[in-house]
Amino acid sequence: MSQIRRLWQNKVTFWFLHETEGALKRLTIRAAWLIYIPATLIVLLFVSSVLLSTFFGSKVNEDEMERLRAENTKLSLKYQEIKATLGEVSTRVDQLAQKETAIRALFNLPEVNPQERQLGIGGPDALDWFPKTEGENLAIATEAEVDKLLKQTEFEFQKYGEIEDALMGLRERLDHTPSIWPAKGWFSRGYGMHYDPFTGYKQMHRGIDVAAQPGTPIVAPAKGKILFAGWDSGGLGNLVVIEHGYGFVTRHGHMSKVLVKRGQEISRGDLIGLMGSTGYSTGSHLHYEVYRNGKALNPMEFILN
Ligand SMILES: [Zn+2]
Repeated sequence: MSQIRRLWQNKVTFWFLHETEGALKRLTIRAAWLIYIPATLIVLLFVSSVLLSTFFGSKVNEDEMERLRAENTKLSLKYQEIKATLGEVSTRVDQLAQKETAIRALFNLPEVNPQERQLGIGGPDALDWFPKTEGENLAIATEAEVDKLLKQTEFEFQKYGEIEDALMGLRERLDHTPSIWPAKGWFSRGYGMHYDPFTGYKQMHRGIDVAAQPGTPIVAPAKGKILFAGWDSGGLGNLVVIEHGYGFVTRHGHMSKVLVKRGQEISRGDLIGLMGSTGYSTGSHLHYEVYRNGKALNPMEFILN
């Protein structure tokens, strides 16, 4: 032990010969230094290489970060553009909803409850406790906007479908509503109380009279089915009765000729007979009656042309 210690404390002397002066120089160091110095150098080399690699490594990461930052900025800008476009789309969808409301008002269709409209769009998102970056918030807001628009357009699509159904029903009904003059001619007597030319007493006239030359075409005032086509012993002579549906029935009297048969389906404008003066009549004319749910109405209220 003490031998090693002695060796440790031993000194080593180096002699250097100076080349130009030719003098000898002496350097005496402890033997231990011969171990200390190389060991310290190795440790320094190791530490510095670790530091260098860490530095370059972080440098690379910083480049990657820079690239990601640039990409993030670009994406944020893109999101802002999308958000602006979605704002325009949202305005259009609102306009469609306003049009829908206007169409409903125009055709007397029931309004959509504003609460139902709101329900279709939905409430706020679930709460998230994690703090978000500006970019994340933008992405979340954009997604929410797209979701809202999707729900809104689905809702409007459904509502327009309802309007289409209602209008198809209305069109069907209008097709079956007597709405045109059944013959061309002169309006010779209106609906209401009149002196009867046969009895001389005031009597209820349940229709209107249109006078023209015998043989003037008489047409169906709406879609329907022939309920009666033949002789009416009640005074209307050759008579055609049409059942139109929706409670409407029309009667066409005093014809010179009937051109349809019972059970026949007819459309508005189809020829049903020719004008004449059969039955209780003083001259060539069409006697035209409109009934709704069995009640005689003034045909003038239905004629649109
Ligand atoms: Zn009449």
